[in-house]
Amino acid sequence: MQITADHVIKFIETITMRVKEQRDYLTQLDSAIGDADHGVNLDRGFTTVLTKLPSVADKDIGTILKTVGTTLVSTVGGASGPLYGTAFLRAGMASADRFELSVDDLAVVVEAALEGIQARGKSTRGEKTMIDAIGPAVDALKAARAAGDDLLTSLRKAVAACQAGMEATIPMLATKGRASYLGERSIGHQDPGATSAFLMAQALLEVLEA
Ligand code: ADP
Ligand code: MG
Ligand code: MG
Repeated sequence: MQITADHVIKFIETITMRVKEQRDYLTQLDSAIGDADHGVNLDRGFTTVLTKLPSVADKDIGTILKTVGTTLVSTVGGASGPLYGTAFLRAGMASADRFELSVDDLAVVVEAALEGIQARGKSTRGEKTMIDAIGPAVDALKAARAAGDDLLTSLRKAVAACQAGMEATIPMLATKGRASYLGERSIGHQDPGATSAFLMAQALLEVLEA
């Protein structure tokens, strides 16, 4: 099994649906350690992304992902717009001209997205951000690839690692983004960006399992 351009379109549509459903939950998480807009920010961004999908429906995976990235950068305010925007842009660069991705390619593409976020956010693991969910997912994909797992098995492991990484942000002290302004009071709350990253990982699995 490979990931096709059609899967990628469905992946973006599914993210949009899940973000809309979870908008209030994401915003509630952000109200505890931020400014209560994470769900609203992503909902606005992906709702705009959805309107751009018809224009790239027959294009390669790189073009689709780059379009998502530029749209997020221009429509989502705050930290998460440029960060997720850069992630999708880098993922698009890593999948330029491709109409199919293998599990090996997926690991490369997701790692490119992770590196984009880290470069843009000057962030590293353990700072209570989206990186703490995406990093373990990349590790799991690479480990699965090394073990010779197929695409679905690899992705299931990556989603489980992503969830564990998201949950591991609860006891962390935030040192990046708005949550860092709270210092010790950031401890005990799940990071909103790590939560939206998990929603996106789940969305990809949902599409490939369908
Ligand atoms: P803002 O904080 O500007 O209101 P959002 O609420 O949309 O933006 O997004 C907040 C999320 O962005 C955080 O939960 C965190 O996961 C992520 N984030 C913030 N700063 C960084 C950074 N420097 N590197 C990686 N992720 C970050
Ligand atoms: Mg916010
Ligand atoms: Mg904000």
